[in-house]
Amino acid sequence: MEKRELICIGCPLGCPVTVTMDKETITVTGNTCKRGEDYAKKEVTNPTRIVTSSVRVNGGELAMVSVKTKEDIPKGKIFDCMAEIRSAAVEAPVCIGDVIIENCAGTGVSIVATKNVNRGKA
Ligand code: SF4
Repeated sequence: MEKRELICIGCPLGCPVTVTMDKETITVTGNTCKRGEDYAKKEVTNPTRIVTSSVRVNGGELAMVSVKTKEDIPKGKIFDCMAEIRSAAVEAPVCIGDVIIENCAGTGVSIVATKNVNRGKA
C-alpha cells in the first residue's frame, strides 16, 4: 500500500489530501469536495497541467504575447513544451485564440494567444 500527501490545486482553499493506493483501489481523504478527489486521483495516475508563458512578437506594438496550452498537457512534457515556446516567434497582429504553435512538443495540444497585439507603428 502506498500513501501520498498532496495539496489540492482545484481552488484557493488548497485542501491537504491523502491518497492511499493499492493494486485495485485509490482512496482519497481530506478533500472538501468532489473536485479534490478527482484532482488527487488524476495526479497519481496521469498528472497534467495547463502551461502559461509568452512568445516573441515581430513587428508588434508589444515585444511579447502571453500564451497558454489550449488544454492540459502531461506533466512530463512541460519542459519540452517550454523549450518550443521559448524558441517560437510570431508576426503581429496577434488575436486572442490564435494558434501560435500546433501540436506543441508532440502532445497534440496547441499553444494559443491569450492577448491581442496590434502591429507596431512603423
Ligand atoms: S478539495 Fe475542493 S475545496 Fe478543497 S482545494 Fe480542492 S477544489 Fe478546493
